[in-house]
Amino acid sequence: MVKINENYLKLQDSYLFSTIAKKVADFQEKHPDKKVIKLGIGDVTLPVIPAVIKAMHQAVEEMGEKESFKGYGPEQGYDFLREKIVEWDYKKRGISIEKEEIFVSDGAKCDTGNFQELFDINNTIAITDPVYPVYLDSNVMAGRTGNFNEQTQKFDKVVYMPVTKENNFVPELPKEKVDLIYLCLPNNPTGTVLSKEELKKWVDYAKENKALILFDAAYEAFIVEEDVPHSIYEIEGAKEVAIEFKSFSKTAGFTGIRCAYTVVPKEIQIEGVSLNNLWNRRQCTKFNGVPYITQRGTEAVYTEEGQKQIKENIEYYRENARIIREGLERAGYTVYGGINAPYIWLKVPDGVTSWEFFDKLLEEKNIVGTPGSGFGPSGEGYFRLTAFGSRESTIEAMERMN
Ligand code: PLP
Repeated sequence: MVKINENYLKLQDSYLFSTIAKKVADFQEKHPDKKVIKLGIGDVTLPVIPAVIKAMHQAVEEMGEKESFKGYGPEQGYDFLREKIVEWDYKKRGISIEKEEIFVSDGAKCDTGNFQELFDINNTIAITDPVYPVYLDSNVMAGRTGNFNEQTQKFDKVVYMPVTKENNFVPELPKEKVDLIYLCLPNNPTGTVLSKEELKKWVDYAKENKALILFDAAYEAFIVEEDVPHSIYEIEGAKEVAIEFKSFSKTAGFTGIRCAYTVVPKEIQIEGVSLNNLWNRRQCTKFNGVPYITQRGTEAVYTEEGQKQIKENIEYYRENARIIREGLERAGYTVYGGINAPYIWLKVPDGVTSWEFFDKLLEEKNIVGTPGSGFGPSGEGYFRLTAFGSRESTIEAMERMN
């Protein structure tokens, strides 16, 4: 008799954003005349930059000619793109990465969700709390997290590292032994970052404890402050203990196009097995590569023209973040993040839960954000707004808040 994977039944609720979407749809049905401003989901709104569109058009033409048509490509990504990634994202920053260490994919969501497959089911995972839900949920599905405790709202085999205003959103090194450590910097949802010195403690910890860091740098392009690492490989020794996930979704507005990459250094050996070989084996078995047209489009990000255009878009979102931060502060809120990240994390008034604040904001101001508790128990009492809206709706939202 066929049986389901019962681990799926341990997943908490429906996916956060579908719950929000449902609440918003219900509200709109009841109030069709109200203009709802959505600053909830982290999706970009500006169109794809001209340099990418041009390259993709050209690639479409190539696909229509017998001589230049492309069928299945390499599972790891075409060399032309892997080489550009090495050159622009690493070599220019003084980091030595080989093209064989780069695995091009259709998203950091899949990669961060899939990577845990390579590890023993008894490995312990450590996640920050709050956290991007994919890290936890993918481990729940695999059966690595133990049971859910309704009282604590935590899985009993997971090590949660709270990040709150009390510790200035800097996670503390785990006291217990952990094997896989997920770090997302700049952070979704809190928008905060670690300095090089702070990140070095994690690399040292991983080395001492034979742990592995899964470093999600999906928001790297938003970093402006000095001394904030753009890549974990800026930290000495990180190539022995860290995987890095990067995405073009927020960097280049690719949430709809879909392209990302994961760096798996050849140095990483676990019980004498090369992790690079293992991930390669996994990808070759379960993944058939990113479309040629997409990869040519992504390649165009790595040109002077492409870089100038994506920077203009990032500047636009950054200005939105400033408008939100200042607008919320004027309205009397305490806010975090929004400087090196497109997320603003605000403290909701005392005595109000994150979901109550969500409902109130939707009902009274017709603004949608994301309740902090949806990202983990320590997110309770906080709320996330994103800078990815249009300038007009961002300004209007802040006018409504004041
Ligand atoms: N990692 C983090 C921290 C994210 O917030 C997101 C998207 O919101 C992703 C990964 C997903 O990126 P992608 O669009 O490349 O799948």
